Order: sequence, then structure tokens, then C-alpha cells
Amino acid sequence: MRPVEEKWEEIKNSVIADYDISSIAVKTWIDPMEYYSETEDTVTIMLPNNKAKILDLITNKYRDIFIIAISEALNNDYEVNFIVDDVKPQENAVVQNTNSENESTNSSLIKKYTFDNFVTGNNSFAVSACLAVAETAGTDNNAYNPLYIYGGSGLGKTHLMHAIGNYLNEHNPSLKILYVTSENFTNEIVNSLRSDKKYNTDSMSVLKDKYRNVDVLLIDDIQFVIGKEATQVEFFNTFNSLYENGKSIIISSDKHPKYMETLDERYLSRFQMGLQVDVQPPNYETRKAILDQLNQKHGNKIDDDILIYITDNISSNIRELEGAYNKLIALSRISSDKITLEMAKNSLKDIINPNKTKVINFEIIMEEVSKHYNISVNDILSNKRNKEIATARQIIIYLCDKLTDDSKVNIANKMKRDHSTVNHSINKIKESIENDPIFEKNIESLIKTITSL
Ligand code: ADP
Ligand code: MG
Repeated sequence: MRPVEEKWEEIKNSVIADYDISSIAVKTWIDPMEYYSETEDTVTIMLPNNKAKILDLITNKYRDIFIIAISEALNNDYEVNFIVDDVKPQENAVVQNTNSENESTNSSLIKKYTFDNFVTGNNSFAVSACLAVAETAGTDNNAYNPLYIYGGSGLGKTHLMHAIGNYLNEHNPSLKILYVTSENFTNEIVNSLRSDKKYNTDSMSVLKDKYRNVDVLLIDDIQFVIGKEATQVEFFNTFNSLYENGKSIIISSDKHPKYMETLDERYLSRFQMGLQVDVQPPNYETRKAILDQLNQKHGNKIDDDILIYITDNISSNIRELEGAYNKLIALSRISSDKITLEMAKNSLKDIINPNKTKVINFEIIMEEVSKHYNISVNDILSNKRNKEIATARQIIIYLCDKLTDDSKVNIANKMKRDHSTVNHSINKIKESIENDPIFEKNIESLIKTITSL
């Protein structure tokens, strides 16, 4: 089974659960949907023939939702098509026709990841290096071999690798280009070894041929190969064979070779022969530019203040940035009103800072207590001795001691009191809490308000 096919039921269920789709809509639209086919980058979903008339409507309403649900289930982005029973989708026919060896090798590339739609931003070094490699890989003067791209998750490594592959495919179509994730590479090796042992076949040498006959090998997320003995040995044999024959190798990893703990010295030096480039987390302008580009693709459906909100709040991972945007697009499909900033904040609350530890400080406590007892900040900080004001003061001191990192000396300074007043206030409030259940409730509710702001 292919990846989406395997998780089809799960994907359908998450569509139903996550988007608040009414039970009648589930029965009418979602239940009858069937998995039809998938390629590297497109999933086709089939509707029963009686839905032919409303194909456009369904596509409009559910396409983005499925894109997101699939992306969440598989950590991989696919386009989604809907077809009606018996109508064959175009891209399927194309895939079935890729008989020539070259095309089937090069079809491991995801077409939508190109240099054109990669926002360079603060990654001009990485992009230049990748372009230089794209212009020369597979030729006699291939620059930077191997090219080693490293950096954190969701920063664009996979995108850049496919961009190199697609560029080569376009400008130098006779080259055999093979892109593989190290997960697939590992699976292929493990399966071949198993099959050869069990059935006495020769699939391992077929596999070796496949990898050693390419002009350009792109291997993604190499960290998953390193440390797995059989796969690692096979990888380095392949690496050496390609390298010695002047073929190009492009590797990605989550860390610099130096920091790959299980990498042998002799392999380390091989990775370092070419060029290592790191992909940097995007700065503010880059993040905004990526969102602008996405928004343009979707007809500028989302307002700029919302894009700025996402830019401000998701800073370390472009996959999450896109995820947030896609969620809003899906929301806009199912809601009849234009998305407002409030709606966006609400819909993104699980993505944006889910465990942000709130910093509670003197100012926040002062403001809340002042509001709660309707006493001005000036009065609280004054020398007035009125009982209500004095109690508010003591509560602020008690809460600062309990909820912030401020030392008692600090609290005293901020409250314009001396150290002994701080101690006295804390004890006084503790005592009242112990002796007066209503007061205790009051303080509890204040704390609740302050900590959930
Ligand atoms: P990685 O492989 O480093 O984990 P990916 O290449 O899968 O990250 O990127 C995650 C998503 O973010 C992809 O959809 C990719 O297209 C997008 N992306 C990453 N960097 C950029 C960029 N600079 N410009 C446009 N899209 C980007
Ligand atoms: Mg990747």
C-alpha cells in the first residue's frame, strides 16, 4: 500500500473530527469519498457518479482540508484532486506512461519544489551553493561534490534538494537523477537482503546497480542511515562508487557531519570533502515573504494583519508557518464570513505557542489587583492608610512573592515600601487566607485570572 492509501481511513476521520463537519455533511460528502490513487505529490479522491454535478463545489469546499489532513497524517505535502467515478485523472495516466528508465528514475522528484518558489531571504549562501551544484552536477566540472545541506527540521532542506533535481531535469534531461529519503533507502536494502536470504534471489545486486548507475544521487535525511550498520555500509559503498566515477552526490542531514555521533572518522572526512552549507532559520522578512507568496497563490484570501500575526508568532519552522496558513485557508472555505484576526487567533491557538510559559510580573499583578478592587495604581503606591488600600497593597506583595521570581528586596523597591513591610504583608495575607474562606476564594480567583491571562 502507498502512504496515503494506508492512512486513508485515519485521514478521513481526522477531516471529520478536526473541522466540525456536520453529520449530514459527513454522510453526504465525506463517507462516499474513496481513495483512488496517488503519485509522489498528488492524491486523487474519487466521488460516486451521482456527485458529478457538484464536483467543483466539493473541490472548493474540501480540497484544502484534505491537503492539511494528509499533510498532518504523513508529514508530507500532496496536492489533492477529486474525480468522479470512471473518469481517469490526468496525472495518473502520465505516471503509468513513464516507461523509459530515465523518466522513472527522475520521477522520484516532487515537481512543485523549485528554486523559483523558494524564498531566498536570509539563506542566500545555501541557495547559491545549491544553484551552483544544480548548474554543474552530473557534468565533468561538478562543483562542490558532495554537497552537504544541513539544518533544523522544516527549514527547506528537502525543498532545496528537489529544486536541484528539478533544475537538472529541466536543463539537462538526459541525466539520471535519483532522489531518495534515507528511510526508503533503508527499507529497500532491508527488504532486498531479506528476500535474497529467503528466496535466494539476487535483488541486492539489482539494487546496487540501480544506485550506482545514476548521474546524480540526492539522499535526504542521512542521519537516519548513519548508525544502521548494514544500510550505512551499503550507502558508503554506493557513495564511493559514484564519487570515484565523478558522479554528483547531494546529502541532507539535521546536523553538521562533525556532530553526527555515530559517524566513523573515515566517513566524516568523505562528507567534508565537498561543501557543507547550513540552512538558517528564517528571519522576520523571510517568514513574511513566504506567507505573502503563499497568500498570493491563494488569491490573497487572508488579510495582512493576520499574516503579520503568524509571522510574529511562528519563528522557527517553515513547515509550521505553512501549516498555520493552510489551516486558515481551510477555515475560510468552510466559513461564510471573511476570516478576522480574532478567528485566526482562535483557530491557531494550538499551533501558536501551545506551551508558552506565561511570564507573570509585578506590572501584571498590580494591574489586575487594581482592577479587581477598583483602586488606582497611584493610591496603591501612595501612603494612604485606608483599610481597602492597605489590603490591596498587601495582596500585591503576597502575589508577587508567590507568583514571580522577584526577591523581597525587589518587591519592596517596586512597592516603595521597606523590607519589613513586605514580610509583614505576606504573613498577614497568609493568615487571612487560613482564617477566612471567603477571602481565600477571592485570592484563588485572582490567581486564576492572573495566571490565565
Ligand atoms: P526540511 O526538509 O528542512 O525539514 P522542507 O524542505 O520539507 O524542510 O520544508 C518544509 C516546507 O516549507 C515545505 O513545504 C517547503 O516548501 C517550505 N519552505 C521551506 N523553506 C522555504 C523557503 N525558503 N521558501 C518557500 N518555501 C519554503
Ligand atoms: Mg526534509
